[in-house]
Amino acid sequence: MSKITELFGAMVFNDTVMQARLPRDIYKALKKTMSQGTHLELDIANVVANAMKDWAVEKGATHFTHWFHPMTGSTAEKHDSFISPKGNGQIIMEFSGKELVRGEPDASSFPSGGLRTTFEARGYTVWDTTSYAFIKDDTLCIPTAFCSYSGEALDKKTPLLRSMEALNKQAMRILKLFGNTSARRVVSQIGPEQEYFLIDKEMFLKRLDLVCTGRTLLGARPPKGQELEDHYFGCIKPRVSAFMKELDEELWKLGVCAKTKHNEVAPAQHELAPIYGTANIATDHNQLTMEIMKSVADKHGLACMLHEKPFAGVNGSGKHNNWSITTDTGVNLLNPGHTPHEDAQFLLFLVAVIKAVDEYQDLIRVSAASAGNDHRLGANEAPPAIVSMFLGDELTGILEAIETGSDYLNKEEHQMQIGVTALPHFPKDTTDRNRTSPFAFTGNKFEFRMLGSMFSTADPNIILNTSVAEILRQFADELEKAQDFKSDLASLIKKTFHEHKRIIFNGNNYSGEWVIEAKKRGLSNLQTTVDALPEFISPKSVALFSQHQVFTGSEVHSRYEILLEAYCKTIHIEADTMADIVKGSVIPACIGYQNELAKLLAKKKACGSEYDTSLEGYLLSRISALASSLLKKLTVLENALLESRDKTETLAHARFYRDRVFAAMSELRFVADELETLVGNEHWPLPTYAQMLYSVV
Ligand code: ADP
Ligand code: MG
Repeated sequence: MSKITELFGAMVFNDTVMQARLPRDIYKALKKTMSQGTHLELDIANVVANAMKDWAVEKGATHFTHWFHPMTGSTAEKHDSFISPKGNGQIIMEFSGKELVRGEPDASSFPSGGLRTTFEARGYTVWDTTSYAFIKDDTLCIPTAFCSYSGEALDKKTPLLRSMEALNKQAMRILKLFGNTSARRVVSQIGPEQEYFLIDKEMFLKRLDLVCTGRTLLGARPPKGQELEDHYFGCIKPRVSAFMKELDEELWKLGVCAKTKHNEVAPAQHELAPIYGTANIATDHNQLTMEIMKSVADKHGLACMLHEKPFAGVNGSGKHNNWSITTDTGVNLLNPGHTPHEDAQFLLFLVAVIKAVDEYQDLIRVSAASAGNDHRLGANEAPPAIVSMFLGDELTGILEAIETGSDYLNKEEHQMQIGVTALPHFPKDTTDRNRTSPFAFTGNKFEFRMLGSMFSTADPNIILNTSVAEILRQFADELEKAQDFKSDLASLIKKTFHEHKRIIFNGNNYSGEWVIEAKKRGLSNLQTTVDALPEFISPKSVALFSQHQVFTGSEVHSRYEILLEAYCKTIHIEADTMADIVKGSVIPACIGYQNELAKLLAKKKACGSEYDTSLEGYLLSRISALASSLLKKLTVLENALLESRDKTETLAHARFYRDRVFAAMSELRFVADELETLVGNEHWPLPTYAQMLYSVV
């Protein structure tokens, strides 16, 4: 066995460890709970907990924690040690079944969007048995779902699991109609590609904006950005390479299948992609990946930045959510088949996704909405805010031929009579990629590309799974009543494509013409988070989530409130930080430099007229003028911040932040960035873009 195969999963209480350490009947009972969601009896949980504790203690663990995904977007943990007094002044290490399956953290300080007031602050964490426990930082981490006393979800895992269940239920109905008797479950699988930036930690710490907000709020454009396109897939620098190696190892130990790593488009930007897995586990793993990226970077004297737009003017970071649906027998339902029967089933699932994305395009947009991601979407580096789908010419051609009942002309110019039960073998050309599409079919999966790098993959998959579940429900309702299955199936596929083909766009999503064309097609263009979020609480959205028991009406409303509040708070913190930097660093730098210029000017003048003073004179007058403008813009920003306190209704508040506070920040930045180009380097208090972007050698 090579070293890596031994390393992989070394810190995970996985199936191999369970088999080795649990009595056979206990192992079987636990497996049943994992695969069928059956209740885990306390006596069984006790044995599992004890085995887990013994294993963890052998690996050096001293504590355990219920590890969960609150609505903050990151993960939460509260460590309890295994120690328990023996009564004789000594202790033993203990971990009970009750402690394993259920926790009661004080939930009052997590966002709940009004679901839980502080006087009923108790929240519950419940073990998600399908995601293995693992050891991180000498602590046994139990992946858990987090809900309120009355059972409302306060986290991202609970609704994700519910949405997976909804999809399973409806997809199984469809599979039964196709005569499938072997599959017992359908699961959504995801492979999230994660982009990030790495800069030198010392530079990072000198920038209050990066420390407090994750992005640079000021900074003149560097002389070299990404124009030469020399970073993408470029040779990886030794320091970055050392970081990536350690990152891979740390992730492998935690059972995360880190697979691909490369340099990305912007200088200092990189990407990591894992091998895809079941949506809830892959979501846990993506959270772990983001966390471990930061801690490993720190060890290497680097700062890992996951913000969607750390630097203006160069590409920001996204997360591509590759999504497919698979049976427990290993059949990918989005894989075009080899037989007419498989083809028809594939086409039905395909048009279900097309219909889901068209009908619920606004919700899909909501799933990619945040203050950070507003800097990317529509900014010619990421998909626009308009949701559309790329199918590629071949597949679109096939669906069009089905729609019109015409012959399909394939590449070799062969006429081919096709119907839903006879699909020509079209090339699954993975190089035929449309990188500008928000939602692209890539051979046997869809790649949803609108997500921001900091996002949890839970949110888009909750929305995707539930929307597709709803369309499959409609299809199953219709087909279960069919008199003639084959012909009804054929008309359903035809009709669905006909009604929803407006969502398909294979062209350049970055072009201005697409914006006009999309409008003609009646597609939404929700440009900012503030435009998008109200769609989350539309009657249609609430009906969708309640029907599939993914969210209750009050859960949807609470999430809406949390997202809007997060938007307001983010911009508020950014504005405050910016004002601090301008007052504390930029203004003093301008004064210092002007002082020097003024002294020199005075000296030269004192020497008589023999010295030319045009340079000092020009700089002094330009900087003075800009400095006064800076002060004015700063005052506008500070007044806007004061005014923001008067707003009580969240949506109005969010609009105010977008239209007034954010706008004031842009104006202030414009002046400050020009000052940066005039004030001498020695006087400028902040590392420049060029220094940061090329800080890692
Ligand atoms: P690219 O950058 O060209 O889009 P990558 O190889 O970087 O592709 O990433 C593709 C991602 O898609 C990987 O995480 C991979 O595991 C995942 N993936 C591949 N097949 C599937 C599938 N059937 N379902 C979900 N994700 C998949
Ligand atoms: Mg990709």
